[in-house]
Amino acid sequence: MAAERSYKSTPRTRKGAITAFGSRTDIGCLRDHNEDSLVVAPPLFVVADGMGGHAAGEVASEIAVDVIAALAPEHPDGEVLAHAVQEANRAVIRAAREGRGREGMGTTVTAAMLEGERLVIAQVGDSRAYLLHQGKLQQLTRDHSLMADMIEAGQLTPEEARTHPQRSVITRALGSDLRLQPDIYEINVEAGDRLLICSDGLSGMVSDEEIEHTLRRVQDPQRCASQLVNEAIANGGHDNVTVIVSDVAGFAEARRKKMARKTKVFIAFVLLLFVAIVAGTAWGAKTYLDTAAFLTEDDGKVAIYRGMPGSLLGFSFSRYERTTDVPVDQLQPGVANRLQAGIRVDSVADAEALVEEYEEEIAARETPPGTSGEETDDKEGGAGAKDEPANTDAKDAPASAGADGLVPASTSNDAANASERGDVA
Ligand code: CA
Repeated sequence: MAAERSYKSTPRTRKGAITAFGSRTDIGCLRDHNEDSLVVAPPLFVVADGMGGHAAGEVASEIAVDVIAALAPEHPDGEVLAHAVQEANRAVIRAAREGRGREGMGTTVTAAMLEGERLVIAQVGDSRAYLLHQGKLQQLTRDHSLMADMIEAGQLTPEEARTHPQRSVITRALGSDLRLQPDIYEINVEAGDRLLICSDGLSGMVSDEEIEHTLRRVQDPQRCASQLVNEAIANGGHDNVTVIVSDVAGFAEARRKKMARKTKVFIAFVLLLFVAIVAGTAWGAKTYLDTAAFLTEDDGKVAIYRGMPGSLLGFSFSRYERTTDVPVDQLQPGVANRLQAGIRVDSVADAEALVEEYEEEIAARETPPGTSGEETDDKEGGAGAKDEPANTDAKDAPASAGADGLVPASTSNDAANASERGDVA
């Protein structure tokens, strides 16, 4: 016996469920047991209203929801859900025979599977499923009850049925007939619709108009379920009350959320890429600035700096290395001009080499003038110039050239021969 239990639910969350839902069950005002059971495990929602007296009703309803929860399909499937209800029926009958609960105990079942815009319901008894669609309440299931039969036959109005002494008589329930078949409903619903599943403790105590009003008014599904139970209790609470409210998010909404997730991942990727590019560029720039060098003028002398000349947005990217003894005003005018802007080279070593060239050029120019004009091959630099002072006596010159190891490439075979002869001499 589990008489102390008034709340029964199987908390179970299936992967990918995005439905917003709420539920509440209450013993009501007159009963001493809550014989209702429920399962809230999206996409599966079940309400079972047990009967049989002496706590047997809750045994029946609990067996039913447990078996259905175990055997329900992963996704809405009328055939598999119907099979689960039939197995639940057999389990209730078996339990009564084995002495669990009582002989003759039974239960209603309204089992719904809601996924995206697809709703499948298996129905036995007088618990109900309603849909709020575009603000209008519609009853989705047909009761298996004496009242429903009489209303259909035109013998009663729904209002008369509400207070009829035989209003609790149901014509189909789990627990008596091994060949029981549930009614199966397959319905397309839309985003924004709202599904309500309830025991007759709600539908018998609260009018459809009031239910519709509350479903429209209370946005949060949990608060809405709770409010509906409050209304049943406020109206007398003659029976146990169980309510499940589930909002239809729909595939469109699910798709939108999935897209939003994908967009977030994409943005994160782009940001990461951007950071990587910036970091890579910064690293490349730093490496370049660490190795590159340039020559410029510093107090009339040629100076060597690391990095690059000029500045960007107020930042300087150069580092002073040293000032040489090479006076700028003794360099060729073109070179002096270029020094103003900075002469960029690949490394400090290259800068030192260039300074060496300047020194040699100046040294060459400081030697007695008068002969350099005859030679057109200025490009050979200081080495060529150095060879030439003794040019009046060609035979002496090669000796000094050989000693310097700076025999110009243009030197003729004669000069090379002369060098050998000079060495020998
Ligand atoms: Ca009931």
